[in-house]
Amino acid sequence: RTPTSPPRHVTARVAPLGSRLVLALVEDRTRERRVEAIRRDFVANVSHELKTPVGAIRLLADAVQDASGDPEAVERFAGRMITESERLTRLVQQIIELSRLQSDDPLDEPVPVSLDDAVATAVDTTAIDAQARGISVVASGEKGLKVLGNREQVTVAISNLVANAVNYSPDRSSVLVATRAADDDMVEISVTDQGIGIPSGEIDRIFERFYRVDPARHRSTGGTGLGLSIVKHVAATHGGDIRVWSVEGQGSTFTLTLPRKNQEGSP
Ligand code: ADP
Repeated sequence: RTPTSPPRHVTARVAPLGSRLVLALVEDRTRERRVEAIRRDFVANVSHELKTPVGAIRLLADAVQDASGDPEAVERFAGRMITESERLTRLVQQIIELSRLQSDDPLDEPVPVSLDDAVATAVDTTAIDAQARGISVVASGEKGLKVLGNREQVTVAISNLVANAVNYSPDRSSVLVATRAADDDMVEISVTDQGIGIPSGEIDRIFERFYRVDPARHRSTGGTGLGLSIVKHVAATHGGDIRVWSVEGQGSTFTLTLPRKNQEGSP
C-alpha cells in the first residue's frame, strides 16, 4: 500500500458522519481495488509477453553457438534474433505508450491538431514496410480538418490503425485513409484495407490488451497485441470512439471518431 492511500478503518470511523460520505468512501475503495486488480493483471501479462521474445532470443543464441561451423545456419538464426529483438523493442515501446496514456489526462489541455499532419505522419511511418510489399497507402477526403485533443496521441492512434492495415494485407494491395467531418462536433478517420479480415466472433476481443486473433499465424507480423488497446484508450480519453467493420478474407475498415475543432472564426 502506498503511504498516501487511506487506512482500511477509515470507512468505519466516519460512519456516523452520514451515509453519503460512507457510500462515497466505499465506492472509492471498490474503484481502488478494481484499478489494483487491472494493474496486477497487466503486470502479469507484460511479464508473460516479455518472456516469449527473450526466451526465443536465448534459444537462438544457443543455436548460433552450436552452428558455428555452418555459416548459412548462423545467418538464418541471427536473422531470427534480429526479428525477435525488434519485436521486443516494439513491445517495450507500446507498453510505455500505454502506461503513459493511462497516467495522464490528455484533455487537461486539448489543442487543435491538424488531421492532415497526423495522417501524413502515420502514412510516413508505415511507408518503408508498405513499399517493400508493394502496398499503396492513399490518404483522401476532406483536407484542413482539425481535432481537439492531444497531438501525439491522435498521431499514435492513426499510425496504429494504418500499421495494422498494412500488416494484415496481402502484398500489392491498397490501404485507404479517409477523413471527413462527421458533423459539427466530430471528425471521422477511416482506414480500409483489403486484408485478411477478422472473424466475426473475434471482433469484440481485438481491442483487449495483448489479444491477437491468431498469434501463431500473426507471428511473422511481429504484432504485440497492444496497438488497438492504445487506439481504444485514445478514443475514450478524447470522448470519441472506435468502430470496426470486417469481412474475413476480404478486408476491414476501422473508423476512429474524435472531437472536431470548430472552424468558426478562423480566416
Ligand atoms: P497487433 O500488434 O497484434 O497487431 P493490435 O492490438 O493492433 O495488435 O490488434 C489486435 C489483433 O486484431 C491483431 O493481432 C489482429 O489479429 C487483429 N487485427 C487488427 N487490425 C487488423 C486488420 N486491419 N485486419 C485484420 N486483423 C486485424
